[in-house]
Amino acid sequence: MGAADLSRRRCGAHRVRRRPVRGRRVRARGARRAGDRAVRRVRAAVLGAGIMGSSVAIHLARRGVEVTIIDREPAPMAAASRWNEGKIHLGYIYGADPTLATAQHLLTGGLQFAERLRELVEEDLDGHATTEDDIYLVHRDSVVGPDLLRARFEAVSGLVREHPDAARYLVDVSDARATAIPPSELAELTGPEIVAGYRVPERSVETRWVADRLTAVLASQAGVTQRLGTTVVGVERRGDAVDAWRVNTADGAHEDVDVVVNALWSGRLPIDVTAGLTPQRPWTHRYRLCLFVRTRTVQEMPSALVAVGPFGDVKNYNGRDFYLSWYPVGLVAQSDGLELATPPTPTGAGAEAFAARVRAALEPIMPGVGAVLDDAESVVVHGGFVFARGAGALDDPRSGLHRRDRYGVERLGTYFSVDTGKYSTAPWLARELAEEIAGPAGRAR
Ligand SMILES: Cc1cc2nc3c(=O)[nH]c(=O)nc-3n(C[C@H](O)[C@H](O)[C@H](O)COP(=O)(O)OP(=O)(O)OC[C@H]3O[C@@H](n4cnc5c(N)ncnc54)[C@H](O)[C@@H]3O)c2cc1C
Repeated sequence: MGAADLSRRRCGAHRVRRRPVRGRRVRARGARRAGDRAVRRVRAAVLGAGIMGSSVAIHLARRGVEVTIIDREPAPMAAASRWNEGKIHLGYIYGADPTLATAQHLLTGGLQFAERLRELVEEDLDGHATTEDDIYLVHRDSVVGPDLLRARFEAVSGLVREHPDAARYLVDVSDARATAIPPSELAELTGPEIVAGYRVPERSVETRWVADRLTAVLASQAGVTQRLGTTVVGVERRGDAVDAWRVNTADGAHEDVDVVVNALWSGRLPIDVTAGLTPQRPWTHRYRLCLFVRTRTVQEMPSALVAVGPFGDVKNYNGRDFYLSWYPVGLVAQSDGLELATPPTPTGAGAEAFAARVRAALEPIMPGVGAVLDDAESVVVHGGFVFARGAGALDDPRSGLHRRDRYGVERLGTYFSVDTGKYSTAPWLARELAEEIAGPAGRAR
């Protein structure tokens, strides 16, 4: 890495720059050279084995990098990347962002999600993604009124249609539209709080299936060593250079590497500080709990989301597996500190009480929720961290939490700190980053 790389560079997800690969690729420090070939392989530590860390690790290893992936959980993909809704965003949910920057930021990664995931897990998502359009229900207390929201949805649909990758989404969306739901149908589906409804062609994936597949691939991927149940406590430079790093872990051990990828999500900022990157405010950590329900029989409940503000949603993956959330009930912790401690997940009577509160909030708005919960074979309460570059609360239309257009990679030499931003863009961003670090696949050293 040259002197220019000593400076800190910021870069958004959709702006991960492609540099001429030969000049840019990281090389193993102090490696002897045979002709133009480095003899020692590049060593990388990937911190965090969520969807971002696991994807980066697999891509780097396939490009000839020797990877150690470290996570404090006893298994990969055990945190937010396992326990989330799995919406593969086209941008409709950020209807309170008047700039449309969020939709633009989300689109490429979302449209390419299925392809990028297939490349990682070598299996199709068929049977593990929703097949019906999502319904957006406009709440009477929405921070964006129904007319303005319809105009924003039309603008987002236009962005989707014009995008060169529109046909590559989980379903071809090159004719994407937000279609208004007739009042009679809306009245059958919802309670009086809902003032309008739209169908949009967004899909979601079963995140637990994805988590299991990625975990299996990571375990069998040549060139990846896993250090699980291991907490990262800091990263420091070895000497003055910014292409030689030491990763320190809570067990007193360390890894000396050429490259660090910090994909710790909720735990990312404190480690950035130890490496020499100072985070820029504002940011907010939130911890959200939801319900993952499996029913005994097939339920017809559609996938629907209440917009725009601190509301909730129902996801029907396959007729029997559901995700239910109500934001004010599920938001159990929030902080603008460097890190937020993991709140306890309720079990037993606590879990039942939590489920009852979610039901009490959702059922008046979407009466079908009652039948789903009455038919439940299992109800799991779980959730995870959400990190966002913004502050405030969702009932404030001016809150920065209504935008998600500033996530991506920050760099300090060969230290890469990744704000994943969204599950839906992670496989795409991971590949871009691996390519920046190690060049295209098939050119392994
Ligand atoms: C309820 C909920 C619903 C969501 N719905 C959606 C959705 O529909 N669509 C969407 O695109 N996104 C959604 N998200 C966001 C999405 O889940 C995250 O953006 C994504 O999973 C983050 O992936 P990650 O790999 O960065 O983080 P994680 O999956 O959290 O992985 C980070 C890993 O780092 C580990 N770790 C942290 N600190 C340390 C440390 N110091 N040492 C060692 N290990 C550490 C953790 O154990 C974890 O395994 C949702 C999130 C939540 C909570």
